[in-house]
Amino acid sequence: MRVLLVEDEVRIVDEVREQLVRAGYVVEACHDGEEGWFRGETEDFDAIILDLGLPRLDGLSVMKRLRRAGIRTPILCLTARGSWMERVEGIDAGADDYLPKPFHVEELLARLNAILRRSERHPSHVLEAGPISIDTRRMTVTMQGGTIELSPLEFRLLRYLVHNKGRIVSQVEIEEHIYASDQEPDSNAIEALVKRIRRKIGPDTIVTRRGYGYLVED
Ligand code: CA
Repeated sequence: MRVLLVEDEVRIVDEVREQLVRAGYVVEACHDGEEGWFRGETEDFDAIILDLGLPRLDGLSVMKRLRRAGIRTPILCLTARGSWMERVEGIDAGADDYLPKPFHVEELLARLNAILRRSERHPSHVLEAGPISIDTRRMTVTMQGGTIELSPLEFRLLRYLVHNKGRIVSQVEIEEHIYASDQEPDSNAIEALVKRIRRKIGPDTIVTRRGYGYLVED
């Protein structure tokens, strides 16, 4: 089971991760709402543990966006102690369960197991923009019924643009999202990647906005 843990308090992340790994889960952690939303929408998880108080994008907004995008992955949200309003809003926004802080990791594990048992999985792993269809589970791209062969980097770039369709995405933002933090891409790497992708999926699919970045139309 692969679990996404979205929590900005390092101490909690470390403690929860250690216990979940011991219980046989694969744990991916991220520390802000923007990243949580992106990974939650574009990667395949069996469950998401989501803190509601997060930097960059609050947990409630993350959850609403994921649900609106058709992501049905069970979500356990972590709420502030005594905040019944947060719990009500969390459930309204699509949480499967909540756990007030502070909590014992044993209780988190029990609740996580319970929502996994209850969940019927109808996740949507398909991102679409115009004729482009990306299956984020099989890591395939199709257009008009035909499969497009992309390298892993090309795939990550296209997936990121389609995930953000309708918005201009800067080169720096793309680099941050498709390269591991210890990789240093060449200055023209993104431009070259876009060229290669265009050759495979057509010249008009990715629009260049000189000086701003790239765009896939909604
Ligand atoms: Ca927090």
